[in-house]
Amino acid sequence: MPIATTNPATGQVLKTYDPMSDEQIDAAIERADLAFRQLRDTTVAQRAEWLTAAADLLDAERDSTARLMTTEMGKTLAAAKAEVTKCATACRFYARNAPEMLADEPADAASVKAIRAYVRYQPIGPVLAVMPWNFPLWQVMRFAAPALMAGNTGLLKHASNVPQTALYLEDVFRRAGFPEGAFTTLLVGSDAVDRILRDPRVRAATLTGSEPAGRSIAQIAGRELKKTVLELGGSDPFVVMPSADLDKAAEVATTARCQNNGQSCIAAKRFIVHTDVFDAFAEKFTARMAALRVGDPMDDDTDVGPLASERGRDEVHAQVTDAVDRGATVLCGGEKPSGDGWYYPPTVVTDLRPEMRMWAEEVFGPVAGLYRVGSYDEAVEVANGTSFGLGSNAWTSDPAEQERFATDLDAGNVFVNGMTTSYPELPFGGVKNSGYGRELSALGMREFCNTKTVWVGEGEAGAGAGAHAE
Ligand code: NAP
Repeated sequence: MPIATTNPATGQVLKTYDPMSDEQIDAAIERADLAFRQLRDTTVAQRAEWLTAAADLLDAERDSTARLMTTEMGKTLAAAKAEVTKCATACRFYARNAPEMLADEPADAASVKAIRAYVRYQPIGPVLAVMPWNFPLWQVMRFAAPALMAGNTGLLKHASNVPQTALYLEDVFRRAGFPEGAFTTLLVGSDAVDRILRDPRVRAATLTGSEPAGRSIAQIAGRELKKTVLELGGSDPFVVMPSADLDKAAEVATTARCQNNGQSCIAAKRFIVHTDVFDAFAEKFTARMAALRVGDPMDDDTDVGPLASERGRDEVHAQVTDAVDRGATVLCGGEKPSGDGWYYPPTVVTDLRPEMRMWAEEVFGPVAGLYRVGSYDEAVEVANGTSFGLGSNAWTSDPAEQERFATDLDAGNVFVNGMTTSYPELPFGGVKNSGYGRELSALGMREFCNTKTVWVGEGEAGAGAGAHAE
């Protein structure tokens, strides 16, 4: 894929970049390694000061940064502004909470026959971050803020269609005061990832993206025995039960499916509705989907902008066409518009069956699949019946049913009577083919720390000797 800014609203190529040479990549890794030695010796307070400065820059430059993101990948300007603000909030969250998250954790010294024993969290070195274009600032920040706070350095291989946002991120951290090399954007294609990850100076990798990309990184990292965190695709269920507030559910369902022009990993994608309320929900939901305004993402009145690439739009339309050809019913949308820009209308498809692509695949656009089920058990069976397990939603006002869904939905999160989203305070990640590891919260920070056990005794030959099993 060429490294270029192409405006999805017009299809116009605005700026192209040559990929970095092997020599330039090696030099960047060397700088990241040197910066790591510097950064790990700084205090948490110093790093918190730099991260707060980064938050201040993001806030001050919100509008221009948002315009850049909208130009590169087509999200609405309002959504882009909210994304910048969310990144600044996450930086402040980690600046404020990292001292506690990274503090030594005392253990019960007496029970391990020590004078003192504790767990210490230490950074591990340069971490490669392979990131997607759909939240071009937020996806990177939720890795970068905790990683830099912990004292690691970051090497960003961003998606090839958001190079200017990628360069902006490097610039923000530099201007915030982080040492040269602490956070570097590598303008490279995905073919360079193998070489970078095999470099012994690169200690770990995180990838947010598709399942095939995740498998590829995991394979390389497995060979090299390097830690990975993978945040992959999802086809989140949104279950509506008879006791749900249907108006609220239909309103949130529309936002949950179409936010970010339908290109969110944690978008609700499969709407699984109890037969008692199916017709009422379908009517309300379809009316709301059909009423969304599709158009120029820079325009304040636009709800849904273009998809990020022509290839992405073709793929979404192929999935819808496949379902229709095999007998599915389109309740609204479903037609690929002609004209400039990679727009696709909000679409609702029902009468889906397992042999259709939409049943098992992730649909990365504003297209909802609507499923009728006859019971709680059937709802859970359909909800869990894909290879994904990222987010999930359940709508019910019955407290017992809420608790059952919390246990039974096989996903990295369950949001009851609300839309799945991410908060710096809460862990984020998936199960099954949606990946492994967690981002955000203290868990996200510790993914790239050495969780070191420290045991201090009195010099005897291991008070626990003989009790060893290893
Ligand atoms: P993608 O094609 O997998 O690209 C993501 C990143 O991986 C890009 O930087 C891409 O580089 C790189 N890449 C692609 N193939 C690779 C390979 N074989 N080896 C190494 N790197 C590779 O995904 P996308 O289309 O940009 O993003 C959409 C996908 O991401 C969806 O499946 C979505 O659900 C998922 N996603 C998941 C989360 C989450 O948190 N779980 C969040 C957002 C998105 P190039 O751009 O140069 O190809």
